[in-house]
Amino acid sequence: MRVLVIGGGGREHAICWALKKSPKVRELYCAPGNGGIAEVAECVPIQVNQFEEIGQFALDHSIDLVVIGPDDPLSEGIVDHLEAKKIPVFGPRKNAAILEASKVFSKDLFKKYNIPTAAYESFENYDEALSYLHKQQIPIVIKADGLAAGKGVVVAQSMEEAEKALHDIMVTKIFGASGDQVVIEEFLSGQEMSILSFVDGNVVRPMVPAQDHKAVFDDDKGPNTGGMGTYTPLPHIPQSIIDEAIETIIKPTAAAMVSEGRSFRGVLFAGLMITPQGPKTIEFNARFGDPETQVVLPRLKTDLLDIFLAAVNGHLEQMDIQWSDEAAVCVILASEGYPAFYPKGLPIEGLDKVKDALVFHAGTALKDGQIVTNGGRVLGVTALGKDIAEAREKAYTAADCIRFDGMHYRSDIAKKALV
Ligand code: AMP
Repeated sequence: MRVLVIGGGGREHAICWALKKSPKVRELYCAPGNGGIAEVAECVPIQVNQFEEIGQFALDHSIDLVVIGPDDPLSEGIVDHLEAKKIPVFGPRKNAAILEASKVFSKDLFKKYNIPTAAYESFENYDEALSYLHKQQIPIVIKADGLAAGKGVVVAQSMEEAEKALHDIMVTKIFGASGDQVVIEEFLSGQEMSILSFVDGNVVRPMVPAQDHKAVFDDDKGPNTGGMGTYTPLPHIPQSIIDEAIETIIKPTAAAMVSEGRSFRGVLFAGLMITPQGPKTIEFNARFGDPETQVVLPRLKTDLLDIFLAAVNGHLEQMDIQWSDEAAVCVILASEGYPAFYPKGLPIEGLDKVKDALVFHAGTALKDGQIVTNGGRVLGVTALGKDIAEAREKAYTAADCIRFDGMHYRSDIAKKALV
């Protein structure tokens, strides 16, 4: 089969790596891809928002399946666009991708269907939002309604910080139209957990759970990033909690989308907080997580292409999906200055010295035969082991082989799971 993956980050590298293992995949393309993806797929210089060009490429190359990685093209309707051309595609349509693209939509859905989530109010008017905010307790969470490259959420520790976030979002409009509405939400404390599921309508097939580390520095210090590392499984979280989240949050959300006439097909990503009252949803994403994918897919024993095809062809429920018992840890190697400003184009050394680990490229490019940095999150180093301790040890040993100017990474990924 001929498969085209859309995107160019670490997540898409992991998806391409997993697809490449399928004996059924004859040609694998990735648009636009990156320096590492080029080793497993043919990179095509088309950007993720160039729907016409993507559709034309798929038709010209008789593509049997398109897989969409990032959120932006999903929320802009890439699946609808390709389906209209009769091109098979794995991912939610625009009317289902709204689950990620509008926090007001998702919060209202949780409320309507009694799905556990943080208490909240949403606002279109700045003055009303400000006056509501002044009546709330600190900490408080301010969220831009729309997509904001993972930066639209502020967990404010003071009223001044909350006021500034609200002003930035609704008045200065730092996220543009994504800040036309805002959600002000109760702060939840507890352990976070991500559960990704393959979904087709009411059929929900959960993957193994993972945990992300959002803050840039050790001990969860510093600003939030797209994610500095992940691990799976979560030995410190009882299976009963994971099952409860699936039964009370994930399956009801998929069912609610069907009831709303917005049946979801693709990867449904639940961001959850385990509170003293049980798991509650923080958010849903309409795609694979980055860097969750970099630890979850290496544990998948079943052919990923078969799962995608089962979802697209309506037999996901019958699919036998197997996971390995191993642990996986991913450490992100980031550029100096990330998540703010950072340099690009720095040569990356030592990739050939890595043994017993997978290196997924996120922000890299190939320049005159040399792999160079090309983003804030540059590489994700994933190692597998019999348990978290072994996987962690291997991931850090591999990370230490690699260097580029200003490279930094957290040294405490998965540490919580050791205790
Ligand atoms: P999101 O982009 O919605 O995943 O939010 C980013 C991060 O903000 C989450 O991973 C949490 O760490 C944090 N967060 C979001 N909502 C809440 C909440 N209601 N209470 C506490 N932390 C939150």
